[in-house]
Amino acid sequence: MIKNIKTINDFNFNNQIALLRVDFNVPVNKYYKIIDDTRIQYTIPTIQKIISENGKVILISHFGRPKGIPSERDSLKFLIPFLSKKLKKTINFCENCIGENVKKQINELKNGEILLLENLRFYKEEEEENKNFAFELSKLGNIYVNDAFGASHRSHASITILPKFFGEKKCIGFLMQKEIKFLNKFLSKKNNNPITILLGGAKISSKIDIIENLIDFADYILIGGGMSYPFIKINGGKIGNSIIENNNKIEKILKIIFNKCQKKNILHLPKDVIIANSFKNTKNTKIVPIHSIPNGWMGLDIGPASIKYFCDIIKKSKTILWNGPVGVFEFSNFSLGTRSIAKIIAQTTEKGAFSLVGGGDSIASLKMEGYDKKISYLSTGGGAFLESLKNKILPGIKAIKK
Ligand code: AMP
Repeated sequence: MIKNIKTINDFNFNNQIALLRVDFNVPVNKYYKIIDDTRIQYTIPTIQKIISENGKVILISHFGRPKGIPSERDSLKFLIPFLSKKLKKTINFCENCIGENVKKQINELKNGEILLLENLRFYKEEEEENKNFAFELSKLGNIYVNDAFGASHRSHASITILPKFFGEKKCIGFLMQKEIKFLNKFLSKKNNNPITILLGGAKISSKIDIIENLIDFADYILIGGGMSYPFIKINGGKIGNSIIENNNKIEKILKIIFNKCQKKNILHLPKDVIIANSFKNTKNTKIVPIHSIPNGWMGLDIGPASIKYFCDIIKKSKTILWNGPVGVFEFSNFSLGTRSIAKIIAQTTEKGAFSLVGGGDSIASLKMEGYDKKISYLSTGGGAFLESLKNKILPGIKAIKK
């Protein structure tokens, strides 16, 4: 997937200022406690290499969706104590990303020290892929390192434009290397059959192209959660009030996918579902065949027959990819399907299969049950992970290549 790309090992950072683009957009609870720190963990070796070689580290990241408007809520300040503890170092912080104030703080920074800049998205120019903003950022360091896999599918200033100002002095960090290595490993598993891909979640529009891409690659494509209802509906099934993201484009692609998959017989939908008559964590539920959900009711988890059906396929697989919960796992009454999937993937991996899991929700459900350590690789990118599966080079990786 990537050739001719410099990695962090191609540089010595002695006396250098590394402008390190990270993805610290971690999920937090209302007290700003980090729920999943995988993205930070994977990037720690990159920071450590730079400081151990006596370089300065300038950390740049986005957080949340402030849309160009600075606020306490989306400030990166909450990360200071967490990073200090992880790195056993003082973390300096600057409330700006560009301008004299930042430059002054960088001048005062000693080799081996770290400066975290405020949220890049406090500047609307970041998401607008603005050249001047990228140019101003480029003045802050002399080696650009991209370790923000989770943001590398975005055409944003710090991802696609900023590296252009660094000539040969740009590279990817250890997190990025790891992501690419495991995605390549997955894509090269052509002979390690059966290959099973399980897609769940709610947003079919973000995953539909991938299905088309993976038809020739996979042996089994399992569709669960909110993703399954458009497939059921197009087949004439009754889905009641279940979630459905539908438009003409989706319908057209769905038909194509259906026809292609039917020839190969690789598309597998849930058999039964657990339904409720409102979107809440209720115990007032019924189990019905997925094609006959009554009006006023909605499918919120896969049922026992579907769990068995999906688990039997996963059990015999040698290569497994999972993205997206098969139900509203945030509600305990509708989490059994997703927890069962997490468990069987962990168990099958222990027996020697290769498993790749991406997307915050799937990782969160693995962690709920303590299965995360058993998976071959947890990808830190949701959208970026799915985009990579289309066998396309992400914009952020392409920008390092040039
Ligand atoms: P996505 O971002 O597309 O991966 O969607 C993840 C979300 O899908 C989670 O928050 C789940 O609660 C939701 N989800 C999964 N299954 C269903 C369902 N049957 N009905 C409504 N939402 C669902």
